[in-house]
Amino acid sequence: MNVRIWGTRGSLPTPGSATERYGGNTSCVEVNSEGGTLIVLDGGTGVHGLGRHLLARGKGAVHGHLLVGHTHWDHIQGLPFFAPFYVPGNRWTLYGPRAAARPLRETLARQMDGQSFPIPLERLAAELHCRDIEEGDHRVGDVEVTAQSLNHSSPALGYRLRADGRTVVYACDHEPSPDWTPGCPPEALPPADRRHAEFLAGADLVIHDAQYTAAELGGKRGWGHSSTDYVVELCRLAGVRRLALTHHDPQRRDDDLDGIVAALNETLSRQGEELEVFGAAEGQVLDLPI
Ligand SMILES: [Zn+2]
Ligand SMILES: [Zn+2]
Repeated sequence: MNVRIWGTRGSLPTPGSATERYGGNTSCVEVNSEGGTLIVLDGGTGVHGLGRHLLARGKGAVHGHLLVGHTHWDHIQGLPFFAPFYVPGNRWTLYGPRAAARPLRETLARQMDGQSFPIPLERLAAELHCRDIEEGDHRVGDVEVTAQSLNHSSPALGYRLRADGRTVVYACDHEPSPDWTPGCPPEALPPADRRHAEFLAGADLVIHDAQYTAAELGGKRGWGHSSTDYVVELCRLAGVRRLALTHHDPQRRDDDLDGIVAALNETLSRQGEELEVFGAAEGQVLDLPI
């Protein structure tokens, strides 16, 4: 599998000089299997650049699968601007959580209802299929996908992808369970957090919501997001090889993120841990270690 990051920002697009290295576009990740399956994780504003990239390749019709974790705006706002949807002959299957308040197709149609966007969903030239899915295993091309619920204010799914002998997990947005406390020993991990750690277990790469620092999470319980220390701790317990922190807070500047990542890696290396942590950056291509 080959992974490319197109959008890393949480909540709100944040262009500008303070975010130009990690990126200002909201959530979007491209995954390609060696067998030719194209999977897009989330359709935040980053999907605009991906769409242009796919058409510029000039390889003919584009068929792909788009897995939406949940339908908060920062995960679907780019979809009306996804150029492959406007090309006849293209075929896309879109997936979203069945537990959402309304079917995925209806949610996507609402953000293109004339009030918010001029072209309605049904006028798109590509063939679009929407599927509302539940927790469990799903076959997407030659990729095995396991969906698992996340702890968020809206029904949300994380996706565990397996293909080519590699495993990638994408989990945005997710908050520690109310019972979790910073620094809690592994044996005292609340069941919901243990279940989440098992979802991440042994992954070559985890791309995870880490909107807050440990200090920030205290005042933002109930907002639906993880803190960096929580994600690192779970990935360490789960034997993950590489962790890409993403869904960066709109107020997080590039320099702040550099400092956060450096401090986390310093602690991990002092502890003799092999987990590698980095901040997901727009345009980044991620190799999966053998
Ligand atoms: Zn979000
Ligand atoms: Zn959300």
